[in-house]
Amino acid sequence: MKLDIVLWPDPVLLDGTQPITEVDDELRQIVAEMRRVLFEERGVGLAAPQVGIPRRLMLVCPSGDPGDEVVVLNPEILAVEGEEIGEEGCLSFPGIYGRVPRAVRLKVRYQDLDLRQRELELSGWVARIFQHELDHLNGEVFIDKMTPESREKVEDQIEDLRRRGAESTA
Ligand code: ZN
Repeated sequence: MKLDIVLWPDPVLLDGTQPITEVDDELRQIVAEMRRVLFEERGVGLAAPQVGIPRRLMLVCPSGDPGDEVVVLNPEILAVEGEEIGEEGCLSFPGIYGRVPRAVRLKVRYQDLDLRQRELELSGWVARIFQHELDHLNGEVFIDKMTPESREKVEDQIEDLRRRGAESTA
């Protein structure tokens, strides 16, 4: 199995995802490929739809260092607190960066690769990554959450990406 980054506006990024109820060999291979892609691309987070897999699975790795990544299945946000605006990028939007408001603190629940339920309290950078990746699982992308000023600055780049996507599927 070889998976690659899917660029917006591919429909797999917009259509939402299915929960994971079983961890089988195929899912373990998907996770291994996602780890490879995440570190090759020097990301800090990766959601399964970004490699073409419409499942509720994501990796969160605030340090960007291999081995620090957390494998997150079926995530939910139980509580949020505060709001702050910070800069984000996305592997599915190469070269596009913008400021996005996010909750500062989160209480989250998810399952690990053994399907054990876990709860965590997150804040700051890791909370931001968690929210960005969870949005991917819900078919949402960060350009639609940017501040209006940020969005305006990247509108031409977004249009280029949209055009390239249309050409590649034509
Ligand atoms: Zn992203």
